[in-house]
Amino acid sequence: MKDSKNLDIHTKVIHAGQHPDPTYGGICVPIYQSSTFVFKDAAQGAARFAGKDDGYIYTRIKNPTTKAFEDNVAQLENGYGGLATSTGMSALSTLLMALLDQDSHLIGTDAVYGPSRMLVEMFFSKFGVGYDYVDTSDIQNIKNCLRPNTKILFIETPANPTMAITDIQACAELSRENGLILIVDNTFASPVLQNPLDLGADIVYHSVTKFINGHSDICGGIIIPKTKELYEKVFKSLVYMGGTMDPHQSWLALRGVKSLALRVEKSQETAQKLARYIQGHPKVSWVNYPGLESHPQYGLAKKQMKGFGSLLCFGLKGGFKAGEKLINSVQIPALAVSLGGIESLIQHPASMTHAGVPPEKRDAAGITEDLVRLSVGCEAYEDLKQDLEQAFGQTIS
Ligand SMILES: *Cc1c(COP(=O)(O)O)cnc(C)c1O
Repeated sequence: MKDSKNLDIHTKVIHAGQHPDPTYGGICVPIYQSSTFVFKDAAQGAARFAGKDDGYIYTRIKNPTTKAFEDNVAQLENGYGGLATSTGMSALSTLLMALLDQDSHLIGTDAVYGPSRMLVEMFFSKFGVGYDYVDTSDIQNIKNCLRPNTKILFIETPANPTMAITDIQACAELSRENGLILIVDNTFASPVLQNPLDLGADIVYHSVTKFINGHSDICGGIIIPKTKELYEKVFKSLVYMGGTMDPHQSWLALRGVKSLALRVEKSQETAQKLARYIQGHPKVSWVNYPGLESHPQYGLAKKQMKGFGSLLCFGLKGGFKAGEKLINSVQIPALAVSLGGIESLIQHPASMTHAGVPPEKRDAAGITEDLVRLSVGCEAYEDLKQDLEQAFGQTIS
């Protein structure tokens, strides 16, 4: 289906960009596991290279299985087209290579995914790229950092682990007024709950590893620019940087995305109930979930998102030790990083992912000693609640 504009997201995830296999009529797009494509004759080869025939040449440039996945997600985000990448990080490095110039400047959300920040600080800085990472949930902080050479505003909302929300529409206006390109990492919300391009962003990207694929069996990324001009610029960067998605990976991602709307709905319904249950628990001191009225940007989340998602963070009165005990005591959520999979995952950053970061630095980033992050999957609410109940029971307070 080429144009799914007026269809519901539940229909779109299944049909957008999909067509039966032209050879045998298979309902699923096959895995075109070929690195290269044979031309009928010299004239056809010449026409393809000249861009007069849009057939396939070589998989790093374009592949039919990958294209079916790209067309699908591009329609979910209402963008010009999709560019699938080997990982989420590959999506960001491809984007920044395409859009930053030597000595240009980027402003980003301070709580972005850690490696996204490191990519700029460790590598793009080598080309003189300047950066400021600030709390973008207050638009004034962005204004204060604007420089004549600022080119990109890069936001992640909701951000990790504070679940702080940045106003996409306000950022889009600011970007227009100042000639910036607004890039949104939409991984946490997925295209089901938030469509940044509709709110004025220029480019959205996802770690496909998370909600879009949803089965914790591949890594992947996808970039969706709003305009043809941006698409062509980023496409060139992808072809030359070489971080293309593999056909088999694309096929798995395409299979995963078809249940995206169902998974997101189910898991967020459970997350909403769990957030209330956890908030009321005597061993818990605080809960960060955009769907609770106590969240500082509950109103904004309600305005720009279609739902509040399935990630939540909470603090235990017993601090570090209680956090460690809790993650060792749960039976259903797996003790692992990543998020957005069909199975629930739990982690305690202070004793795991961020154990090597000095406590003062962790605190400054909102990663306190007591913080536990839960990515709610598609298991039954009652089972998860009872499991947490027994695990809370084992922690000291
Ligand atoms: C995981 C993640 C990434 C990076 O994606 P990979 O597929 O691991 O490379 C980027 N942004 C966010 C918000 C993520 O959660």
